[in-house]
Amino acid sequence: MISKTFSSCIDGFEGKTVVLEASKQNSLPQIQITGLPGTVIQESRDRVKASLNHLGFDTPSKKILIHLSPAETKKTGSHFDFAIAMGVLTADGFFPARKIEKFAFLGELTLGGELRPVSHFIPLVEALIRESQVEKILVPFANQIESTLFKSDKILHFQNLNEAIRFCFYDEPLVHLPETDNPKAEVHSSGFPNLDEVVGHGYAKRVLAIALAGFHPLLLEGPPGSGKTLLSHSAASLLPDLNDKELVEVSRVYSFLGEQREGNRIPPFRSPHHSISAAAFLGGGCSQVLPGELSLAHRGLLFLDELPEFRRDVIEGLREPLQNGEIHLHRISKSICLPARFSLIAAMNPCPCGYSNSHHERCSCSPEAIRNYRKKISGPILDRFPLYLWLETSWNQSAERGNRWHATRLSIENARCRLKELNLTGTSLTRLKAHLDGSSSQLVSKWETTTRASFRRIENSLRVALTAALLDRREIICRNDLEEAWSLRSPENLV
Ligand SMILES: [Zn+2]
Repeated sequence: MISKTFSSCIDGFEGKTVVLEASKQNSLPQIQITGLPGTVIQESRDRVKASLNHLGFDTPSKKILIHLSPAETKKTGSHFDFAIAMGVLTADGFFPARKIEKFAFLGELTLGGELRPVSHFIPLVEALIRESQVEKILVPFANQIESTLFKSDKILHFQNLNEAIRFCFYDEPLVHLPETDNPKAEVHSSGFPNLDEVVGHGYAKRVLAIALAGFHPLLLEGPPGSGKTLLSHSAASLLPDLNDKELVEVSRVYSFLGEQREGNRIPPFRSPHHSISAAAFLGGGCSQVLPGELSLAHRGLLFLDELPEFRRDVIEGLREPLQNGEIHLHRISKSICLPARFSLIAAMNPCPCGYSNSHHERCSCSPEAIRNYRKKISGPILDRFPLYLWLETSWNQSAERGNRWHATRLSIENARCRLKELNLTGTSLTRLKAHLDGSSSQLVSKWETTTRASFRRIENSLRVALTAALLDRREIICRNDLEEAWSLRSPENLV
């Protein structure tokens, strides 16, 4: 008697359907698992036996062979327990195998038969939802918050093995109906200062809005205490909430770290330390991927404080995601693609001590130390920052405390929507130029003929100008927008 059922495993950054076959052999009682199972799955034999015995099933009565296919994919994770237990019960003759042939199971078992939550839940379930042979996916109750993201009636939740056995083999209805809403979730406070709590810096706030609305990387330079960090943190409060699609994408990335974001619609904010390794920044791992900071910031904000102190290969790693919103990890057998579309703000001091160019403190660095420090931010790196702003410590800002956070956030959301509809990513300069009015069109022609600015820099300024116009709910770029964008471009080099 061969019984067949489904589960899934992680392959790179994807989930993959696994077919589980179980067969009873005329040999000494034991459970044997084949098909490249990892150590955790091998240990599952004892957990499964203990939990089935606990429920009163005297099994295995003979040798039960469990095979996981495709055999060439390495499988890890304790979530195979649930499917293995069901395979053992049917192969050993307690229940008819046909009852579970269209079901899939995910869940770790305790020795007492309770179901424990599954890590990597989102990609594991995604694979099974796509699988046409699977009609129902049985998962632990503890994963309910993540599974509501799918809005799929294929998914059913169970507290323990006993409940699942009654459902599968005795056709008992489920007691715990999956909730369609997500009552526990929807946290709204990001814990970051909102823009109005940052005193002064009126113009810097506008530049933040342009940066976030148009996904334009922003470099802030200024002495310590000039508000670079505070402003960047407050930028997190300006990001629009994640929509349904983005919520799944972000939760999916975090599920690779075994973290549930629990329906949290606040976009991620990541601020890695400058000592971070390339692997931790870009992502690593082989058969199972560990997403790096670039992917953990997906659909959110990445803040790099003290940019010149980051390793060269880390800064280099920004190039691909800034260009196309993804990062490819090259492995011997294949290339793994991770999502990495984020807003980027970087900050730097002007020199090692921080006070070169400051009006308030004296710099103690030698000219050579300053040069070496600034040289770390090369022309090609600066090219990736269409927005650059010098911040000065200001002591006279107490009067100016804004009340604009909510309105700014709304106009950012609005501009982002319109930019998406216009679909200008990767398009030619010609399509951007269609948004210029007469006077600004002349100005662009002048830049093209009289400045030595690269094609890329002119295009960047046009994109920034369009974002500035969209923030004012216009789609025509006027001369002011262009002049502002041009004044905010980063220098060609810092030394
Ligand atoms: Zn200095």
